[in-house]
Amino acid sequence: MQFRLTEEQQMVRDMARRFAETEIKPKAAELDRTHRHPEEIVRMMGELKLLGIVVPEEYGGGGMDYISYVVSLIEISKACASTGVIMSVNNSLYCFPVMAFGTHEQKMKYLYPCASGEYLGCYGLTEANAGSDPASMRTTATKVEGGWVINGEKKFITNGNVATYCVLAAVTDKEKGYKGISSFVINLKETKGFSLGRVEEKLGICASGTAELVFENAFVPEDALLGKEGDGLKQMLTTLDGGRIGIAAQAVGIGKAILEEAIEYSKQREQFGKPISSFQAIQWKLADMATELDAAELLTLRAAWLEDNHLPYEKEAAMAKMYASDVTMRAAVEGIQILGGYGYIKEYPMERHFRDAKICQIYEGTNEIMRLVIARNLLRHR
Ligand SMILES: Cc1cc2nc3c(=O)[nH]c(=O)nc-3n(C[C@H](O)[C@H](O)[C@H](O)COP(=O)(O)OP(=O)(O)OC[C@H]3O[C@@H](n4cnc5c(N)ncnc54)[C@H](O)[C@@H]3O)c2cc1C
Repeated sequence: MQFRLTEEQQMVRDMARRFAETEIKPKAAELDRTHRHPEEIVRMMGELKLLGIVVPEEYGGGGMDYISYVVSLIEISKACASTGVIMSVNNSLYCFPVMAFGTHEQKMKYLYPCASGEYLGCYGLTEANAGSDPASMRTTATKVEGGWVINGEKKFITNGNVATYCVLAAVTDKEKGYKGISSFVINLKETKGFSLGRVEEKLGICASGTAELVFENAFVPEDALLGKEGDGLKQMLTTLDGGRIGIAAQAVGIGKAILEEAIEYSKQREQFGKPISSFQAIQWKLADMATELDAAELLTLRAAWLEDNHLPYEKEAAMAKMYASDVTMRAAVEGIQILGGYGYIKEYPMERHFRDAKICQIYEGTNEIMRLVIARNLLRHR
């Protein structure tokens, strides 16, 4: 067993780290305060091939592996969690399903523009009344001459306000239940009958847009259907398995930022005539944070390694996502505590990390759902 990155993986990580430290970290507080989409950063990420890391080069991507994806996403998320999720959604939730289920023609038309970073993609599964239970969705796609007509509303869609392309799930045959759901890949800007709904105000990841997508008799061409009719829910759930590795990496990145800042602050801050890092109570908190975050990173890398090696990873991705987000949330609570009053005010980034960390326990399947996925796998294979 090797606990070492290959030379290529190290190069990608170091490149992402340099880019994150020079171009992203200095802007993270401003992005959070103004809720601004980091357009110039996203453009540069496209040039660095960070928006389609595992997509083959012929389809505009970086042609790298999932370990490279994870190590670079950790670095980007450590600098700015909002930028991390913009990157993660484009890679895992948009590029992956088009790459996995699309035809060559669909990949040239719909994957190339987003993997190369020219445009952003988003993923529309959730609806107002269909969150943890996506099979209860109400958005429909009706077959008509030359294509499909879509009606319905998708909620909480990351990148929804800035994306040009979308992978969308809709009911094509109500009678067939979850086997009557299909997925579509759509150019939103060219779709008459599509409009942008509300863009949400949020607790954290404020520079990442979260929007409603509204479809009213929206016509999409025949080639918008991704894979076979009726395979949509299966495709969307497979996509989420990989997406969870991305969210685990995002959580690890936020956790690393928390630990680094807690260590630095505790060495500088003096009380009772000594740095607070000399107090055992503070040392124990740092030791727990570091140990849990290391374990989370290893779980995340294991899941990525399984995906690279075409082995099953549903359970391992759920474990990584659940554990990484839980320990990062714990680290965020302790991080604030280590900074005392200064942890609670906006002058220090700890307060932002605390708000950003929370979403990792919720999206791409809540951690309650992650526990159900893990248990289902345990019980199925025994
Ligand atoms: C910022 C943000 C970005 C998002 N981005 C996207 C996106 O890009 N695309 C997309 O499609 N969706 C996106 N989502 C939606 C997200 O994935 C859902 O919010 C999430 O899956 C939970 O669904 P819900 O909010 O409807 O909660 P609910 O499903 O209503 O759950 C409420 C509570 O009940 C619990 N619960 C539900 N069912 C069970 C059960 N069977 N057993 C135990 N507990 C249960 C949940 O764990 C949770 O604690 C985003 C959400 C947010 C907030």
